[in-house]
Amino acid sequence: MTLLLELMAPFEARVDMPCTDEDPEMFFAESPSDIELAKLICGDCPVRNECLAGALSRREPHGVWGGQLFIAGEIVARKRPRGRPRKVVEPEPAVELPTRQEYAA
Ligand code: SF4
Repeated sequence: MTLLLELMAPFEARVDMPCTDEDPEMFFAESPSDIELAKLICGDCPVRNECLAGALSRREPHGVWGGQLFIAGEIVARKRPRGRPRKVVEPEPAVELPTRQEYAA
């Protein structure tokens, strides 16, 4: 019951969580650029620390929580694209991410 009350606290306080205005699939996307965008959206969230702490305590297996990416229950810096790695590693092009203001526009 305590966990349920902790999970419901942001809703009862009517905290404005940016992810509620977004497609939930973005937070579990296959595309590394979508994942980076989800992490960017979490950046403005007033319950970011609580979200991350909750995900850690629940041992979330996948998704973006509290601005961090979870894969197989571990926090990882970046999502790798699907497919077999190339034999010759070429430098990845820089991903142009929109600012929060550009994304909102
Ligand atoms: S930190 Fe958690 S609650 Fe906040 S926007 Fe990200 S996923 Fe949503």
